[in-house]
Amino acid sequence: MPSEPGEITINSPKSGTLVVTGESLPVAGHTIPGQLIKPNGTFVAEQPPSSVRVRVDDGAERTATRSHPTWKRWETGIQLTSPGTHTITATAWHPQWAVEATTQVTAVARRIGIVGVERTQATQFFHINGQGTSTAQDNSVPLVEGKPLVLRVYVNSASGTPPLTRVSGELVLDGTVLAPSNTARALPGPDISRGASGDSLNFWISPTLCSGTKTCRVRVFDPAHQGVVGFEDETTFTLTFTAVPRPRVHAVLLHYTGLGLDIPAPTDADVADTLSKVVRMYPISGFNYTGFTVHNFAGNLTLATGGGCTQGWNELIGRLWTLRMLSGTTDVYMGLLPHGVPSAGVIGCGLVGAAVGFNGDGITMAQELGHSFDRDHAPCPANITSRDPDYPDYPGLPLGSIGEFGLDTGSFQVHDPALTSDFMSWCEPAWVSPYTYMGLRTTFIGTRAAVQPTLSEGRASMREQLVLSFRLHRDGTVQLFHGFHLPAGEMQPTGGEPSDVTCELRNAKGRTLSSVRCRLGPHSWLDDEDTDFHEVLPWDETAHSLVFRRGQDEVHTHVLERTAPRVTISGLVLSAGDPGTARLEWTAAAPPRTELRHAIRYSNDGGTTWRGIAVDLSGQSYDVDLSTLPAGERCHLQVVTSSGIRTATAQTGPFTVQAKPPHARHRP
Ligand SMILES: [Zn+2]
Repeated sequence: MPSEPGEITINSPKSGTLVVTGESLPVAGHTIPGQLIKPNGTFVAEQPPSSVRVRVDDGAERTATRSHPTWKRWETGIQLTSPGTHTITATAWHPQWAVEATTQVTAVARRIGIVGVERTQATQFFHINGQGTSTAQDNSVPLVEGKPLVLRVYVNSASGTPPLTRVSGELVLDGTVLAPSNTARALPGPDISRGASGDSLNFWISPTLCSGTKTCRVRVFDPAHQGVVGFEDETTFTLTFTAVPRPRVHAVLLHYTGLGLDIPAPTDADVADTLSKVVRMYPISGFNYTGFTVHNFAGNLTLATGGGCTQGWNELIGRLWTLRMLSGTTDVYMGLLPHGVPSAGVIGCGLVGAAVGFNGDGITMAQELGHSFDRDHAPCPANITSRDPDYPDYPGLPLGSIGEFGLDTGSFQVHDPALTSDFMSWCEPAWVSPYTYMGLRTTFIGTRAAVQPTLSEGRASMREQLVLSFRLHRDGTVQLFHGFHLPAGEMQPTGGEPSDVTCELRNAKGRTLSSVRCRLGPHSWLDDEDTDFHEVLPWDETAHSLVFRRGQDEVHTHVLERTAPRVTISGLVLSAGDPGTARLEWTAAAPPRTELRHAIRYSNDGGTTWRGIAVDLSGQSYDVDLSTLPAGERCHLQVVTSSGIRTATAQTGPFTVQAKPPHARHRP
């Protein structure tokens, strides 16, 4: 019996379609079955094809996929490997017949292709053209919620006619269409430099969009040939952001009155400015800025003598540490010096819980705050003190290099690891390495102390702590500064490098009541001519002496005052004005052969919380600028009087401090 052959049609691609070489091209069509017919012309049965096969030009045939049981619809995919016009032939086969259909397409070489997308909020692992450490997966530095992100899209622009000059594109992020911040130079892939921000197409993503998981589609194209096949490319990926707690920072604005000068303290806005520079290098969306205290400082920062940060700086950082201890907080105390304060060489100092630097100097403050979060130095210069032994040594790069290319998402400035040191080093220029960035991230996520207001919330259980500062000279003698004991929870500082120096509080019979293994600050080493220590240990009323040991050797014994000092408030004069000033006066009696030092604390909540505002006073009065203090209806001032170690306190009755006129406070 004769067969009537079936029919086949290619639905796509249509004849004349332009495609890109090497890209998968879907081919799809349909068939109409043949018919089995009796010689008398009577229809007997349908004869669907037994297969559909597809070939390009004279190439090998491949069997299509049946998308209907009798091949009424079929599909497959092909690749065109060479430019030019190609014939696609689809054949429907049946044992008794075969029919074919053809379509002609033109393949063009790809001119623009995405090579990779770097996701950076300050630094990132990424490898292209031998640039990058290759020590971790591309884009493995995690993304921080609420922190601006820059996507650097690296595009290969193949040479050819017409020549390409620029690359543009667009980003669709969860439905939001974003334009790039630049048009990139069109470059052959191997010529792309990670060190040039203009060699990548950059998308700045606002912090408000940086949360949760986002789907991204990036399309790049030659703006002179938009929509032309071969002159565009796209890729899709997801971004995941994780929240990092904001570290708490309290600012101490330093009013400088030393060396016959009177330099006003920096302002609240200066704090915001300095912290905003630090935030760009830190793995956080911002600091939790808890407020500020204005503090007068008259020390001399030009003295080149003394170990650690040098004498005047040691005194200043010690004060900040004491103010923090007086405040019973785990906030980092960040001192900000105004421009113009004379100093010699040193530009900042830091230890766990306290940091100080100049107004606007973000790089130095980044390091000092790094110390306050217990980070050591990156190895530049090689003989730097408190060198972090785990800092990576990147092959082919100088010691202390940032390793990877950094990016300032505020300015798009790229930081080259061949020229740039980590901000935890003493070399410049400086930026942040993935090592420091990830280390700080771990600290902020894992350490309560960095982000909690107080370590011990149960104030009823607060016991007295002895806050102690002393200087150990190289010959073993100890110089004790005025310390004090106050109810202060468990404010044991946990940072710094343990030394062989121990401090013990003993009773009259020589029994140890409490002890602490002293820790070295990041700028100190025990071979120094002298080393400052700042320690906290539990206080006991039966204490008789403080004993200092190095290893097993007792190097110094300090016998405490036999009796405590006495202090009473003799006057509080609140000046007219809104909110004005307060003059606090007191009278104090010292135990025999002692000198008194006083500190001032302020509370605006009836004495529940206190804030240290002045330390190391030797007079019997102090003028408090109430305009710089938080308002409240049950405010108190307290004098903390130390005769060396033993401490007495006296406080005023409650008074009201009016709220200050509102002003915009930046939250960096
Ligand atoms: Zn340092």
